[in-house]
Amino acid sequence: MAEYNHLIFEVSRPGRVGYSLPKSDVESVNLEDKFPKHLIRDEAAGLPEVAELDLVRHYTALSNKNHGIDNGFYPLGSCTMKYNPKVNEVVARLAGFSRIHPYQPTETVQGALELMYNLQEELAVITGMDAVTLQPSAGAQGEWTGLMMVRAYHEQKGETRKKVLVPDSAHGTNPASASVAGYKTVTIPSNENGLVDLEELKKHVDKDTAALMLTNPNTLGLFEKEITEIAAVVHEAGGLLYYDGANSNAILGKTTPGDMGFDVVHLNLHKTFTGPHGGGGPGSGPVGVKEVLLPYLPVPRVEKDGDKFLLNSNYPLSIGRVKGYYGNFGINVRAYSYIRTMGPVGLREVSEGAVLHANYLRKRLDPYFESPYPQICKHEFVLSGSRQKKLGVRTLDMAKRLLDFGYHPPTIYFPLNVEECLMIEPTETESKETMDAFADVMIQIAKEVEENPGVVLDAPHTTIIGRLDEVQAARQPIVRYIKEKEEEQVKDGVKA
Ligand SMILES: *Cc1c(COP(=O)(O)O)cnc(C)c1O
Repeated sequence: MAEYNHLIFEVSRPGRVGYSLPKSDVESVNLEDKFPKHLIRDEAAGLPEVAELDLVRHYTALSNKNHGIDNGFYPLGSCTMKYNPKVNEVVARLAGFSRIHPYQPTETVQGALELMYNLQEELAVITGMDAVTLQPSAGAQGEWTGLMMVRAYHEQKGETRKKVLVPDSAHGTNPASASVAGYKTVTIPSNENGLVDLEELKKHVDKDTAALMLTNPNTLGLFEKEITEIAAVVHEAGGLLYYDGANSNAILGKTTPGDMGFDVVHLNLHKTFTGPHGGGGPGSGPVGVKEVLLPYLPVPRVEKDGDKFLLNSNYPLSIGRVKGYYGNFGINVRAYSYIRTMGPVGLREVSEGAVLHANYLRKRLDPYFESPYPQICKHEFVLSGSRQKKLGVRTLDMAKRLLDFGYHPPTIYFPLNVEECLMIEPTETESKETMDAFADVMIQIAKEVEENPGVVLDAPHTTIIGRLDEVQAARQPIVRYIKEKEEEQVKDGVKA
């Protein structure tokens, strides 16, 4: 395709501009009067000089290279790539939500504050918590916010607990957040059914345990049936329970982290609550807390006084502000639109659909792949590529082969406790036909591994770029387009 030719990729031409303005009749300012000298450039920034149409085509071409939920099936386990309803976009673009400024006086943005207040209330009901902050801008930041509150809680009692317990199936952000919050993580091994080993847990829970971080259903898509016993063990030792609610697609309207005994939870509005994601943000990771943690919630808190909404920072024990302004407001508007569109019954049906779809796909694929945990799953399930590995084909190869059929591969090699793992989450918004077509392709690939493994080992065949050197890409990323660099690569044969 011509647009990928490197000569055409470089569309900059000296002096070409994408706008035209009348000559300024305002006297130009002397930069040195306005800025310190060291902040002023000696040379022009070297930005591309392009016409508007070339710019539009450049970005459109880039966007066409992306796979998103609007292009096709995206069964990325633990990421809940569900349909992003377009009505949410209409609501988020209403001027009263999109054309306001965070520094406006609160009397002039009552509607926005009302939406935030109502969303907090809805999320508190959904999670079974007493209050919610909308500030954190991602799941991982929610985890860190929650743990900082846990820390403040123990410190307020005069205790310095040092350990956070995390099961081996946990999402990688859990130990990372614990570490950023100043804790040492202790890994709790799962039992042969993929669940928390209660006896192992008891061995590790003590007076030094600040919290246990858990998700339920866990990252294998399995429900921790002993959750109330688990909660009791941690609480008896004075620790708190943190719920990773990034993917709540199996529990909406069925149960809540609050009912299970958790004290603090984050949600990913960009997963369960249909915020568009996958492109690196923006996200929203609200945190809900039980009464014990109320004093530590970030400020300002959005509150209601009579029929007025206000921002209250008067909480001396608060951990402070965790995000500029009040969270990623646009994503919060979309989530609120979704929750109100669905209603309580609709949200419960979401979970029923998500669990049904995951089990349907699991059953269809079960004869062709190893199932390390063959029991009924919740919203997602794991398979192992160990059978195919014996024939010389790895899960990575099968994932690459899926690209030839226009599918985004499932999550692979995660969770870490499953060999050659494939983690599949179809979500409730896919049709039976879509899931069947995907299953047919997975089955075809399993047959190819037996009959014609080369076609899988050499995949992908239909994408613009074949297999990337992922090590090189991670170690020496070139994140900025530099014309000379590209010419050098073409000359060295790195790039066609
Ligand atoms: C996605 C995810 C996270 C992290 O959320 P981000 O918004 O990417 O920071 C945490 N836990 C689980 C289980 C997740 O799936």
